[in-house]
Formats: sequence, structure tokens, C-alpha cells
Amino acid sequence: MHHPERQNRRRWAAATVGGALAATASWLVAMVGVRWLRAALDGARFAVRLVTLTAYRRCPDCFRVLRQEATVCRSCGSRTRR
Ligand SMILES: [Zn+2]
Repeated sequence: MHHPERQNRRRWAAATVGGALAATASWLVAMVGVRWLRAALDGARFAVRLVTLTAYRRCPDCFRVLRQEATVCRSCGSRTRR
């Protein structure tokens, strides 16, 4: 009864190596995914800032965010445009 045990051990070793490989591969995928996600988040943040800059501005008196077309601030009533 030596043969089946050896086979089991070999199977166990193969499973261990396979598991380690799978773990390494999933770790690599996770790292790349995190990096990609961060880049995507940075891009989204940049796009939001760009939209905010083009569509909104700040009141010079109270520094609240106003629509670009606003002529009177809705919080302090200051005329932002003449
Ligand atoms: Zn204001």
C-alpha cells in the first residue's frame, strides 16, 4: 500500500503549488486592478473638477458655489456680475 499514498502526496503537492500559483496570480490581478481603479478614480475626479470649473464658480463675497450663469448670489445676495 505504498503506491496510493505516494500518489496522494503528489496530488497534495500539485494542489499546494497550484494554490500558490493561483494566489500569486490573484494577488497580481488585485494589484493591477487597484492601480487601474485608482487611475479611473483620478480620471473621474479630474472630470468632475473640470465640469465644476466650467459650470460653477464661487461667490466673491461668501465663497459659496454658484452656477456660472448666476448674476446674484442666492446665499448673500451679492451681485456677482454687473
Ligand atoms: Zn455670496
